[in-house]
Amino acid sequence: MTAFPLPPGSTIGILGGGQLGRMLALAAGRLGFDVAVLDPEAGGPASRVSAYEVVGAYDDPAALAELARLADVVTFEFENVPAAAVEHLTRLGVPVAPGARALAIAQDRVEEKTFLNGAGVATVAFAPADDAEAAREAVAALGAPALMKTRREGYDGKGQKWVEHAAEAAAAFEAVGGKPVILEAPADFVRELSVIAARGRDGEIAVYPMAENHHEKGVLRRSFAPADVSAETAAQAERIAAQILSALDYVGVIGIELFELKGGRLLVNEIAPRVHNTGHWTMDGCEVDQFEQQIRAVAGWPLGPTHAHSRVEMLNLLGQEAEAWAKLAGEPETRIHLYGKREATPGRKMGHVNRLRPL
Ligand code: AMP
Repeated sequence: MTAFPLPPGSTIGILGGGQLGRMLALAAGRLGFDVAVLDPEAGGPASRVSAYEVVGAYDDPAALAELARLADVVTFEFENVPAAAVEHLTRLGVPVAPGARALAIAQDRVEEKTFLNGAGVATVAFAPADDAEAAREAVAALGAPALMKTRREGYDGKGQKWVEHAAEAAAAFEAVGGKPVILEAPADFVRELSVIAARGRDGEIAVYPMAENHHEKGVLRRSFAPADVSAETAAQAERIAAQILSALDYVGVIGIELFELKGGRLLVNEIAPRVHNTGHWTMDGCEVDQFEQQIRAVAGWPLGPTHAHSRVEMLNLLGQEAEAWAKLAGEPETRIHLYGKREATPGRKMGHVNRLRPL
């Protein structure tokens, strides 16, 4: 049995070895923890800064047993880890945070919106459809246009298609893969915002200031934080975060993507049960960033302060853009974070910069 708070010298397991795992591992190291990373591929961004590397599929019982042997507590860096892997680790006696329920909900857009509405959190109107005919009926019921998204495994705008008329629904269903989908009413938003929040093992909740996010081709390009929002909007986001975290009995950091409607009402687009790209600004804008916060939460430590001490523009470095590292490193207001990825394929997230200004 793991006792909390977990003392320094303990080992934190991370499912997933990409850049989020790397930044989690670096934060864990700062607090005196060792890290064990499980990833299907050897030598990824996280394992190269971690004490232990376990190579195997997320549902490989031998790899999970090895992680359970090494780690005192396990967390994850991306939400497509099979929920069964989390349940398996829990059966082996290792606490996993956030839990299997948060993971399962975030993996399925219909479950996610159903959960959110049940927790008193508003989303766009939606309808599930498991086949082409059901998709047509769903568009007819919701009204066109409607946005079709695969229920599972969609990210960065992949697996999505606008349906302009109910008659186009069947073709769209095939185009996004012929698998179960969700149809969403259009969100008539003026801005996309997000809020990063955390809940500790004692139920304490800490919420960062909101970020305003700009996407290009479905991928996050820039975040501005703290976002210029009214006190009412900030309070609304804090209320939404607290409702979600409490309803899930959550432990860890969560990323909540929001649509801001004209008039200031917020709808939740989606939740990510992990540290989030729109929270990277906290690395240089806050005393305790989202990565350290996640480690603190899962280790049962007190949560850190979340207020901003600087204004930050976060810019993702995609593909070849990270090659400008020498120039970027020479800009006094720019903090540069590189993920150690060996191949810069077009659009791949290779790093980010945080440009600071006084608040
Ligand atoms: P998602 O994969 O759900 O994060 O969606 C990717 C992007 O598509 C979002 O960041 C929005 O810009 C846009 N989007 C998603 N859902 C809707 C919606 N219901 N109405 C309008 N735009 C949307």
